[in-house]
Amino acid sequence: MVSEAVDAGIDRVLWTEAEIAARVAEVASELAADLRRLPEPVVVVGVATGAFLFLADLVRRVGAPLAVDLVRVESYGDGIESSGRPQVTADLKVDVAGKHVVVVEDIVDTGNTVSCLIAHLQKKGASSVSVCTFLDKPARRTVNFQLVGDGKFYRGFECPDSFVVGYGMDYAELYRNLPYVGVLKPEMYNKKTSN
Ligand code: 5GP
Ligand code: MG
Ligand code: MG
Repeated sequence: MVSEAVDAGIDRVLWTEAEIAARVAEVASELAADLRRLPEPVVVVGVATGAFLFLADLVRRVGAPLAVDLVRVESYGDGIESSGRPQVTADLKVDVAGKHVVVVEDIVDTGNTVSCLIAHLQKKGASSVSVCTFLDKPARRTVNFQLVGDGKFYRGFECPDSFVVGYGMDYAELYRNLPYVGVLKPEMYNKKTSN
């Protein structure tokens, strides 16, 4: 049994490890049902680093043939506010031309990152782009991104408008290994930005 102890930097837990596992299983079956209707394997593109745990849990539960690749799209730095100008800083290895692509994200916040990535994949000739995000913060959306072709939007949970960490998500590269998702104590980032 993994320890249930909550990290000292966490104000409150939003989703426990068990709640995450149950929801990821549901999203995976929804996605699997759609992928089974496609004539060929999809390319699942995880956005590093935040999506790594969700990606790993998700693809193991999708019993359909698929390729997995990673991309790095960055706009955040160590702060908690997006710069709004994301860039692809590490590109795909797999050729997505003519392929159905499923982007796997940790969290869609303003929508800038996903919008940048969709444009990037479209330019590479993907025939459809879906987005599967673990968390969705619709209250903070500033970009109305368009999916490509028959692409669909899948999400694990709707997230309140707070800065969250854990289950892959970081603050200054820490907290990614927490098995749950929690709200970071404001003093944890105030400490850093005030000096
Ligand atoms: P967007 O471009 O949609 O504003 O932000 C997308 C990226 O910003 C996410 O993929 C994630 O890496 C980061 N991000 C947005 N909100 C949060 C949050 O509450 N916690 C953490 N750790 N990262 C976030
Ligand atoms: Mg991300
Ligand atoms: Mg981050």
